[in-house]
Parts: sequence; C-alpha cells; structure tokens
Amino acid sequence: MSDALRPLIVGAGPTGIRAAQTLVDAGIRPIVVDEAAAGGGQIYRQRLVPDERTPRDLYGSETGKATALHETFARIRDRIDYLPQALVWNVQGKAADVAAGGRTRRLNFSHLILATGATDRVLPFRGWTTPGVFTLGGAQIALKSQGCAIGERVVFLGSGPLLYLVAWQYVKAGARVAAVLDTAPFSSKLHLLRGLLSQPGVVLRGFRYAAELMARGVPVHFGVEPDQIEGETRVTGMIWRERGKEHRLACDAVGYGFALRSETQLADLAGCRFVFDGRDRAWRPERDLAGRTSVSGLYIAGDGAGIAGADAAELAGERAGFAVLEDAGLTVDRARIAVLERKLAAIQRFRDVLEAAFPFPDKWANSVDDDVLLCRCEEISIGQARTAAREQEVRELNRLKALTRVGMGRCQGRMCASAAAEILAAAHGQPLEAVGRLRAQPPIKPLPLGIAADGEAA
Ligand SMILES: Cc1cc2nc3c(=O)[nH]c(=O)nc-3n(C[C@H](O)[C@H](O)[C@H](O)COP(=O)(O)OP(=O)(O)OC[C@H]3O[C@@H](n4cnc5c(N)ncnc54)[C@H](O)[C@@H]3O)c2cc1C
Repeated sequence: MSDALRPLIVGAGPTGIRAAQTLVDAGIRPIVVDEAAAGGGQIYRQRLVPDERTPRDLYGSETGKATALHETFARIRDRIDYLPQALVWNVQGKAADVAAGGRTRRLNFSHLILATGATDRVLPFRGWTTPGVFTLGGAQIALKSQGCAIGERVVFLGSGPLLYLVAWQYVKAGARVAAVLDTAPFSSKLHLLRGLLSQPGVVLRGFRYAAELMARGVPVHFGVEPDQIEGETRVTGMIWRERGKEHRLACDAVGYGFALRSETQLADLAGCRFVFDGRDRAWRPERDLAGRTSVSGLYIAGDGAGIAGADAAELAGERAGFAVLEDAGLTVDRARIAVLERKLAAIQRFRDVLEAAFPFPDKWANSVDDDVLLCRCEEISIGQARTAAREQEVRELNRLKALTRVGMGRCQGRMCASAAAEILAAAHGQPLEAVGRLRAQPPIKPLPLGIAADGEAA
C-alpha cells in the first residue's frame, strides 16, 4: 500500500516537518519542498552563514523546541526527498509545478499537504514605502538569518504579539530600539489575563518581553495612530498621534505589521472551497480539524490554514500526517490523534484572547489619506481605489483589480490585497467578507524570465 503513496509536503516549517515525521514513522517517503535554504520555517529559521550566536541567542525561550524540530528534520532527512530553495508555483490536479535553480518541473503526488505558513499583514500609511521601512517579519529575518539590524535607531509599530517579540529580540541582540508604538490601547492587554489559566507560559513570556523593554528604557506607547514616516531616500523619523496629540521621533528604520495573513494561493489554485474567518479578517480554505480540505487528498495545516502559532503548527502538521495515513487506509494511533485534537482546540480558544489583546486598527480604512500608495507594484493609491468603489460602483475585490490594477503586479496581491479589501469594504460600509477575495493566479510568486521546463517527474 505504502509504495503507491507519494505525498508532497509544501513547506518545511514546524507544520511540514511534523507532517513529514508522521509519514516517515509509518514507512512512507514524502517529498518535502521549501523555498528556504534550510528547514525550520519562520520561527525556527536557521542562519544563512554560521556565526558566533548560540541557539539560545537565536531562539530564546523557544530554544528547546527549535532544537528538537531541527534534530527531527536531520533524523528523517535520508527518508524523505527534500528539495530546498524550490518554489511550488502552481498546483493542478495531482501535480505541482516546482521551480528551482532556473528550471521548473512537474511533480506528481498522491496526497498534498500544504504547510505554507503566513506573512505579515501590511496596512499602508504615509511614508510606508520609504527605504528603511520593513515588515516586522522582515526585520526579524534580517536579525535571525543575516545577524544584522534594519537600522541603528529603530521604531517598531503595529499590533500583534510579534511587535513586542521582535522589539525584544532587537534589544537582546544589542540594537537600539527608539520606541515601540502599539496601535491598540493599553486596556486591550487586560484580556491577556484571561489567557493566564489556559496558556500561562505564553502570556507570561509576553509580559516579560514588555517589562524588559521598559526596564531597558525603551518607550512603549499605546493607542497610537501612525501618521507619517519621514524621509526621502531613507527614513529619518516617525510621526504619530496619541490621544489627539502629535508626537515625533527621530529614527533611521521602522519595522511594522498588523498580525499575520495565511498564504493560501496554492489551495485556491487546487480548487479548495474557502470560508471567511472573522477572527483573521480573511478568507481561508475550508478544512476540518485534521486539515482535510474540500478537495480529496489535499490537506492544509499550520499558519497557512489560519493563524494559530508555532505550537499549533507542530500539532496540526502531525494531525495532517495522520489524516493522510487514515485516508490511505493505514493504521493510526487513535489515542495520539485525540491528544492532538484536544490541544489544537485549546489553542484555538486562546487565539480569541490574543485577538482581543492585539486588535486590528479598525479606524485605519476610513482615516488613511487618499494620496497614500495602496499597491506599490502597480502604483495605485488609496484614493484611486476609493474612487473606483464609489464612482464605478465597485463592490468586489476582483472587479477592483480589473478596473484599477490593484493586486495585478509582481506580488499578486500578497502584500496589498488585505488592505484593498478593507478599503473597499469601508468605502461602501459593507462587511469585509462581502468584498470577496482575490483569485490566485499561477505563478503565485515571480519566476525568472526564461526559466526552462524539465518536464514531468514522478
Ligand atoms: C515573518 C514571521 C516571523 C515569525 N516569527 C515568530 C516568532 O519569532 N515567534 C513565534 O512564536 N511565532 C513567529 N511567527 C509565527 C510562526 O512562525 C508560525 O506560527 C509558525 O512558524 C507556523 O509554522 P508553519 O510551519 O505553519 O509555517 P512557517 O514556519 O511559516 O513555514 C512555512 C514554510 O513554507 C515555505 N513555503 C511557503 N510557500 C511555499 C511555496 N509556494 N513553495 C515552497 N515553499 C513554500 C516557507 O519557505 C516556509 O519555510 C512568525 C511568522 C512570520 C510570518
């Protein structure tokens, strides 16, 4: 039976590695494809070049989990077919198109597990395209992968647990953090007390980050309304409003983000049915607790299936691995599955607490100025989107794309679609889900011109 099984796993983060381990333990040899040069995904990202930093410097309190995951991946390495630095750019039926080293080839699979993770949710405001502005994730990648800070005097801005974590990681690494600007009010953090019973470790770690930042003299501001990033050829300062009063701070870099958005394009191309997730303010593939989607043989797990964090990603990856085995008629460990599902349900409940503690900035869509750039690939402003919405009666996101070119450029809407949906919904005062979602198009990320096709591979 297992000879006929050829599962493909896209992503070698916590989700993908645990899914692969589950299959390997059952005697199956999966293919694992990842764009990155090494396994670990976002949170347990590895250095590009070795340096003097210890795992503790890189992963802090999560060192044990990072090391365990890396060790697992190393242990199963010769029992999987691993393609690093390879992008899955399309899925059609039971085949995926994979680009690596200037060539593309088609991989056939029996089952597909999408473990593609998430990226920062970006909301534009004045100056957001100035050199020296990074997403929070980008700022963290610079630190983890390349061992460098994004500037010498950095402001971190936004909403979400990553805001405090990245600022704390910068301070720990010896970088100068000029301020942490939280768009949520201080009162929202009281919701975290509700999480003390269910996830005390996570909550206390968050409090520790904030306390250590303040103890090291980093100003932390709450209820901030970002106004403008200053600078022409490089960031020179940040202006914001707080309780109606304008503030300005000199800085040479800004890291910002408003929580995360799932990478769902491959599920879309594969024909999965989507549902609107009010908590994530996004459409995501419909799936059960095991990761089964509406397409037979296709599973989605981890942050790519809806934001739930790294611990949930490991559990969900393992659960999706079991789902493949179950659906192939193989024996599975039912007791272990029950444990996984119970833990996943508990983490989902905790996600509500996090959402209340780090809320989306509701005012943004109505307050951001018309002349701010919305889609940087196609240079479309917020005002152009609003005008199309109001004057051409556009109410749906793909229609907005067709009329204005928002989301038609290199990023295919990965950066601007969340913001465009918020603007469109606000322009008509309609619920966010009413504007729909951008349909994915292959290639989901840019491919080099002249990429050569290698044909089909089993
Ligand atoms: C930038 C960023 C930084 C984060 N930092 C932290 C942190 O410090 N602490 C924390 O607790 N949580 C952090 N998170 C959240 C945490 O990383 C996730 O909860 C967790 O990593 C999810 O695991 P995953 O395996 O689902 O996805 P990921 O860890 O994101 O792994 C997905 C993998 O899929 C690969 N991939 C995606 N699409 C394709 C494709 N088409 N073809 C080939 N490969 C593909 C990616 O290269 C990546 O390696 C971060 C998230 C992001 C986006």
